[in-house]
Amino acid sequence: MEPFTADLLSIEDAQALLLRGISPLLSSHTLTINEALGWVTAEPIISPLNVPGFDNSAMDGYALRLTDIDAEHVLPIAGQAFAGKPYPAPLPAGQVIQIMTGAPIPEGCDAVIMQEHTQRTAQGIELTATVSAGQNIRRIGEDIQQGQVVFDAGVRLKVKDLPLLASLGINRVKVRRQLRVAIFSTGDELVSPGESLTTGQIYDTNRFSIALMLQRLNCKVIDLGIIPDNKTALSEAFHQADQQADLVISTGGVSVGAADYTRDVLVECGDITFWKLAMKPGKPFAFGRLSESLFCGLPGNPVSAVVTFCQLVYPMILRLQGITEKPFASYRAVLTNPIAKQPGRTEFQRGHFLFQDGELRVTAEAKQGSHMFSTFTHANCFICLPRESSSLAQGERVAIQPFPDFLEGA
Ligand code: AMP
Ligand code: MG
Repeated sequence: MEPFTADLLSIEDAQALLLRGISPLLSSHTLTINEALGWVTAEPIISPLNVPGFDNSAMDGYALRLTDIDAEHVLPIAGQAFAGKPYPAPLPAGQVIQIMTGAPIPEGCDAVIMQEHTQRTAQGIELTATVSAGQNIRRIGEDIQQGQVVFDAGVRLKVKDLPLLASLGINRVKVRRQLRVAIFSTGDELVSPGESLTTGQIYDTNRFSIALMLQRLNCKVIDLGIIPDNKTALSEAFHQADQQADLVISTGGVSVGAADYTRDVLVECGDITFWKLAMKPGKPFAFGRLSESLFCGLPGNPVSAVVTFCQLVYPMILRLQGITEKPFASYRAVLTNPIAKQPGRTEFQRGHFLFQDGELRVTAEAKQGSHMFSTFTHANCFICLPRESSSLAQGERVAIQPFPDFLEGA
């Protein structure tokens, strides 16, 4: 490692420091399953039922008793069983029941032969294929057993999860309360989209990226707007944010520039540490506690703000929400283009990966500037280059993190 980077905090140490002493929000309330998408379970969800609830047919066909099968004889049809309308009696000896998919298996039947494997005659059916014990019978409880834990506490309920609750007849679920996150952008140069720009001004990107990601993480966003670079305004914003939120996120002003007042103000109103991270993009970062809330000060460059949010703030939000699953999936992929890198900082380049010719391949975006938000547009992953790594040639293997759902999802 280059000696000049020795004072930089590694991303692993920063992640550990951010999680230290943080425990999940405890209060909870109840929502209907129609409202619960994206919310986090506050307690384990236990199945009140067996699924399936009774042995039933997987096919349209004939339910029969194996010992009644006799190659010489046609089997008469004693009756019919429909989904929701069972055959009301045990199977009479030497006969079959015509049965539809989902209908309860009549007592005494031990298999269902599918309709396509039978020949219907005036007297009944002949079998045109063999049938074995239990064939085409869906067994009681084979999917879920009554009393089984279907979701642990601390699971974010997704589209793929909620229909399962419906299938168990559960219509209400206890969830953890929403994390309240106050956000603001700092900078005299910032203007909201829709307004016109004068010389030296730029549009505020970060408030939108951060708010959208937070919404996708089911946080309640308190948007405090753009705060100019002056101590009074900043100090007021911090005070207001601290009163309203569990977590305060600001962007900009955490570097060492002459207008970076965030630092001065925070020294007065909280217990905040200013970090120089061994991370690119995203070197300056501030973290600590205000009187009522936690605080993260993200760098102003829009790509740096998103990358530090993903790598540092997101794991902390998961911890606060009581979610136990790992924040990142990581894979190895073959580089299709060379990457220039100096040792010293962990890099999170934007890239595009796909599966081709039996392997994952990734192409780094040509431009990687931390001020270039367009580098996200065609990318679908971070290429994660270790701190000590130097330039990489085409064909080398690298770690990739597909963009998390809150960044890539609609
Ligand atoms: P700072 O961290 O305040 O020194 O800002 C670093 C760079 O990011 C500067 O070029 C700022 O103009 C830019 N920047 C800061 N905040 C934002 C924002 N909310 N949206 C877009 N660019 C920003
Ligand atoms: Mg600034």
